[in-house]
Parts: sequence; structure tokens; C-alpha cells
Amino acid sequence: MISLRPHILSRDPLQLERDFVLHGWEKYRAAQILKWVYRGVLDPMQIPNIPKHLREGLDDTYEFSIPLTVKESESEMDRSTKLALRLRDGRIVECVHLQTPRLHTLCVSSQVGCAMGCTFCATGKMGLLRNLEVWEILAQLLKLRMRAPEDRHVNVVFMGMGEPMVNYDRVLESIRVANDPRTLGLGARHFTISTSGVVPGIRKLAKEAMQVNLAISLNATTDTQRTKLMPVNKRWPIADLMLAARYYTENTQRRLTFEYVLLGGVNDTPGDARRLSKLTRDLPHKINLINWNPTPGAPYHPSKKPQVFRDILMNEGHQVTLRYSQGKDVNAACGQLGADLLAKAGS
Ligand code: SF4
Repeated sequence: MISLRPHILSRDPLQLERDFVLHGWEKYRAAQILKWVYRGVLDPMQIPNIPKHLREGLDDTYEFSIPLTVKESESEMDRSTKLALRLRDGRIVECVHLQTPRLHTLCVSSQVGCAMGCTFCATGKMGLLRNLEVWEILAQLLKLRMRAPEDRHVNVVFMGMGEPMVNYDRVLESIRVANDPRTLGLGARHFTISTSGVVPGIRKLAKEAMQVNLAISLNATTDTQRTKLMPVNKRWPIADLMLAARYYTENTQRRLTFEYVLLGGVNDTPGDARRLSKLTRDLPHKINLINWNPTPGAPYHPSKKPQVFRDILMNEGHQVTLRYSQGKDVNAACGQLGADLLAKAGS
């Protein structure tokens, strides 16, 4: 049965203080409780150093349980782990913990499924089931953060399931809350929102006071090619997208990232590399190349010559990373989230 009580993670620190005043509880207790909740104490009866009446009051007022991890898949190739979480309505969402000796990357989802229909992505095949609530995004962060020791750098990327710009307000609100020292205290500069090219979202982000990073998933250099790979291009073609990218860099003074998934024989020719160079060279940016990770039923294969593509861009002065995708063996790499769910559904 779905609980009607608000979830404790749905209250930001100020809202929780206001709630406490209304209930006649000591206001300063709100921060104390959030500190424990965001350390993973998700049973009010287990929160230390608070009076019994407050424990009982919290238990009656808020829902504390977060989505259950129904499957945890750890890569044998690297130390990345994919978590499949069951939401209150029974739907499943996936998120990933990636790690290197110096860095933890928490890859979170903003939607269940995705409406954008990128042809190289498993999530796109699911269609959009629904947007995630703020607390459901925070619950993913909480789960993943608990896996990351405090001594290492933590980055958060909205590169899981869904198009974050379509769930803009909730995504931004989750970053605001996670940024607060009374919750997870993750610096806004460590967050990256990745978009398939939703132009109004890019323009809106350019005006935000928060210093969040932007990644644009470009993947093609002509409109014909990009529309075939990413239907979003029909609505906002490359010229509009690049104008929005310029608007973002001029308003924020921040460098952006262009993501480019290399599909063998489709978008990985020297001509593609040169067009990509020309499109991006006037903007402060870096380019992340990702060799395509196979997803079931998709008519593509990885590029056989990713280094050649990278070298052309490097020789033209771009900062380029040819990214090794972690978690391929457990369908946790870029574009693979949702693949297990599709396989289970028999698609
Ligand atoms: S690549 Fe991103 S925007 Fe495109 S279908 Fe997949 S999840 Fe959606």
C-alpha cells in the first residue's frame, strides 16, 4: 500500500524546520534529524539523542523508507556497481556507482524510462513511464553516497535514465537540497546535467545562480544524421542547439562538455571529426568520446577506430577524452540502463 505521509526526503531543511514549529517540536532538531537521515538512518526509532515523543511523532508524520535495492550488479571488469531500485509504485529505476582510486561518480536517473527515443540507447526503448520526484532522486544519491568513502572526490552526473531537462524543476531542487551542508553537502560544481539537446532547458540553466555543469549529448554533425539518431533534433536542430550552448557559456562563463557516442560506420569518419571540430571550436568546451556500448536489438556496433577520431580533434586543438565506459558487463555503461528491464519484459 502506498503511504500518504510525505517522505522525509521531500522536505528541505527549511521546510522541515517550519514543519517542526507547526508540530510544536524544537526547531533545531530538524537539522539534527536530517544529519542522521542522510547518513542512512532511515528508521526514526533508531535516531540517537532525540526524545521518545519526537521519534514517535516523526514516525507518525513522515515516511522514512527509501526504495529497496532489488538487484545489485557489480562489474567484474572494474569496480562499478549498478543498483536497480523498486519505487513505491512498483516501477524500477537504475543508478550506478562508478569509481577510480581518486574519484567516485554517482550516476543518477531523473525519470523512469525516457521519451526522447535516441536510437542507440536502451532507456529510450522503454518510452517514458514517469518523472521521478525530488525525494526519489535524493534517495538514489543517498544510496550511492553511502557506498563512497568520505576521503575521495565525489561527482554526480544526471546521465542515468531519462532526460533531466524534461524534469527540470525536480532535478534542480534535488541538487539544491543535496548541496545543503545539513543534508549531503555535495557542492553544486560537482553536479553535471546531461541533455540530449532540450534547448529551453539549456537556456533556463544558463540563468540559474547555481554553478551546475552542463553536458550536451551531440553525437552527430549534420541535421540529417542527428535526426536519425536523436529525434529531439527535429524540434531543436543543431544550429539552435549551438546557439543555446553559446548562450550558456556566455551567461555562466563555464566550459561545457560535448558528449559524442561513436557508432562504427555511422558517425565516426574523419569527415565527422572535422565537422565536430568546426561546430564546437568557438566555444569553451571539452569533448568526451564514448565508444558505443552494445544494447539489445540496436542496429549499431562500436567504432573500430576511436583513436583516429580522437587524434583528429586533438590535432585541431580540442581537449578530448576517449572515455572508457565502466560497467559494460552488467549493462551499467552509458546508454545501457534499462537493458535488463527490457530483457525481462521480453523486448
Ligand atoms: S540517451 Fe538519454 S535522452 Fe536519449 S533516450 Fe537515452 S536516456 Fe533518453
